[in-house]
Parts: sequence; structure tokens; C-alpha cells
Amino acid sequence: MTKRVAIFPGSFDPFTSGHQDLVRRGQKMFDEIIITIAKNSAKSPMFTKEERKEMISEIYTDTDQVRVEFFDHLLVDFAASHSAVAIIRGLRAVSDFEYEMQMALMNRHLAPEISTVFLMPHEKYTYLNSSIVKEVAKHSENYHDFVPPNIYDRIKAKLNK
Ligand code: ADP
Repeated sequence: MTKRVAIFPGSFDPFTSGHQDLVRRGQKMFDEIIITIAKNSAKSPMFTKEERKEMISEIYTDTDQVRVEFFDHLLVDFAASHSAVAIIRGLRAVSDFEYEMQMALMNRHLAPEISTVFLMPHEKYTYLNSSIVKEVAKHSENYHDFVPPNIYDRIKAKLNK
């Protein structure tokens, strides 16, 4: 049988427990998940794209089911070139909906055979995003619950430089 591949695109600056929650849910639905880091994301990211790739890869060293790559052109072209059947996106609150729907419909227009699948994280991650984590980390050490342990250490090291 052919592998069911899904793409999980984002900036991941940094990867949070909310992202990890979505990957965990996706692992139950797909044979392979490719976490794709957008090359042209935030103008001044906290972590370079190479650092982000390394940090996320560390979390998934034990499994072949999840890998990390970059993309910089059309996401649907990247997805098609990896024979992906789905694009995973997160829906946290109504505020995500409009933008996500626009993007999903445009991607479907460009590549009708690839479906966007929206997954909802655990409620405890509903109000979590990478920017909030970065903001809190500048002023407090109390953000263990919001990022995987290796990411916590990387943020701490980065800010103490
Ligand atoms: P982008 O810049 O594309 O929004 P992000 O790295 O912020 O990239 O997010 C990538 C995907 O992960 C998006 O679909 C976003 O909705 C989802 N996501 C971000 N934070 C969370 C969270 N706390 N819980 C669940 N999904 C999330």
C-alpha cells in the first residue's frame, strides 16, 4: 500500500507543545509527517531556519514517521513533489478561521487532490503561539509547560547569550 504522507507547514519559531500536540494527532492518521519550515517567514526570527530544523529533529530522533524539511516556493508544489495527500493546519480559536480558510481554499484551487486537514490541539494549548512563548521567555523562566524540554533549553541558551 502507498504511504499516506502529510505536510505540516509553519514558521515554528520556535516549535511549541501546541505544534507537538498536532503532530501527535497526525501520527495516528498518516504514515509520514513532513514538518516543513517556511524559509521566508518572520523577518527577524529568534532562531535561524537551520536551528529550527535541528531543534525539531531532536524531538523525533526515535521515529521515521516524522521528518523536517524546508520549503520556499508554493506549498502545494512541495506537497505534490512528496506525494502528500494532506496539509495539516491547527485551528485554535475562531480567530484562526478566516485566514486558514482562505489559505486552504487557495491551496485546493491550486491542487484539488490535496486536502487541508484541521486539527484542534488540547484546550491547554488553545492560547499558545510561538510569539507568546518568546515574549514570556524574555521575562520569566516559567514556560516549561508550553515547549518540549529541548526547546526550552535552546530558548534559554539563546536569551542568555
Ligand atoms: P504560521 O506562521 O504558518 O502560522 P506557526 O509555526 O505559527 O506558523 O504555526 C504552524 C501551524 O501550527 C499553524 O497551522 C498554526 O495554526 C498551528 N499552531 C500554532 N500554534 C498552535 C497551538 N498552540 N496549538 C495548535 N496548533 C498550533
